[in-house]
Amino acid sequence: MEEFGSMDRRSFLLRGGAAAAGLVLTAGCGVRPLRGPPSPAPLNLPPVKVAPDRVIRTVAGLRPYRSEGFVVRAQRFDETTVIHNYGHGGGGISLAWGSSELAVELAEEVARSGDTRHFAVLGCGIMGLTTARLLQDRGFRATIYARDLPPHTTSNVGGGQWSPFSVYSSNAASPSFERQYERAARISYRYFQDLTGSRYGIRWIQNYSLRSSPGRARTGMLEDLFLDQEVLGPGEHPFSTPYAARFTTMLVEPNVFLPALMDDFLLRGGRIVPREMRHLDEVLALDAGAVMNCTGLGTRSLFGDDDLVPIKGELVVLLPQPEVNYITLGGGGYMFPRSDGIVLGGSQERGEWSLDPTPAVVDRILDRNRAVFEGMQI
Ligand SMILES: Cc1cc2nc3c(=O)[nH]c(=O)nc-3n(C[C@H](O)[C@H](O)[C@H](O)COP(=O)(O)OP(=O)(O)OC[C@H]3O[C@@H](n4cnc5c(N)ncnc54)[C@H](O)[C@@H]3O)c2cc1C
Repeated sequence: MEEFGSMDRRSFLLRGGAAAAGLVLTAGCGVRPLRGPPSPAPLNLPPVKVAPDRVIRTVAGLRPYRSEGFVVRAQRFDETTVIHNYGHGGGGISLAWGSSELAVELAEEVARSGDTRHFAVLGCGIMGLTTARLLQDRGFRATIYARDLPPHTTSNVGGGQWSPFSVYSSNAASPSFERQYERAARISYRYFQDLTGSRYGIRWIQNYSLRSSPGRARTGMLEDLFLDQEVLGPGEHPFSTPYAARFTTMLVEPNVFLPALMDDFLLRGGRIVPREMRHLDEVLALDAGAVMNCTGLGTRSLFGDDDLVPIKGELVVLLPQPEVNYITLGGGGYMFPRSDGIVLGGSQERGEWSLDPTPAVVDRILDRNRAVFEGMQI
């Protein structure tokens, strides 16, 4: 069991495992037989050029993690109902549409009981924007209040692989949370598919999870959402590890997706007010029938949720390489090829609040990825 439960992507990833993308590999199943010494790989996978002089930026972000899982629920404060939608850890991009759909279902109940048509949405990361858009789709008015707007949110830092893992600990989460989680993941998976293409920066992409041992991919309750799974053996792929477990998932480019969502929201008459809420009283005084709380880690101080902790992740971004169109996981890190740069990551520091990249972590990410790509046989 992983530190964050069976749904942990990155702790497994740091050990070089396929669970980097939620995959757990079981020895001996579904693997092609060895066919003599490795030969040049038939796959056309151009290597990433990993070098310090290709680094265009280093960034850090704080995953809003709760071991019991993310919160979607209504809370009553005197005259005002607040509907929470926060705490999605390392899978908030993947879960966004589904979690926000669940939150908006609660908003509909509030609207029915109180005749509310106007909601204040706190937060303009991926949860705030998807919540606001879904409210509009139901015919409600929404005003977003946020301290930070894209490109300055955690959601902009997120890598963007559709992989709703590293979200909760299976030791701490309840069965009802796991049902909520599964429902959110499945709704989201379907919703993102309708937005594939350059306008929203979403595409299907093959992933290679680099491994020293063979195995069959297993993704728990979401197994059917990870298609095209195959374990490639020696000679069948260009990587230096004996095995590469392949599967296909979506990649969401936050720096394309979030501005597109903002445009959609404004085009439909939404309003965005840059404003930090310093105290709950300020929230309750807002001119709206009810409040949707999508402040991510900000919920800890605003609503006093001490179970919410940061898990810091650092990313090293290299010059874009448009010819690279696959993801790698394992070897102590991951690589996502985005149009705004080749994103290298794979760090997590629980309880760390600093947003400053750490030179030692940056060097480690570069070294591990250099080993992956310089070791390719092409
Ligand atoms: C390095 C890294 C890699 C990741 N990779 C992936 C990945 O590949 N796939 C995936 O699915 N997920 C990934 N994630 C996780 C994902 O990025 C987060 O779960 C998600 O962005 C959380 O979204 P959010 O909208 O809840 O929070 P945020 O994006 O943090 O947005 C919160 C909003 O609330 C506002 N706010 C906060 N407090 C206040 C206040 N007091 N008053 C007013 N406004 C306030 C903020 O300004 C902001 O607008 C990654 C995260 C990190 C850090």
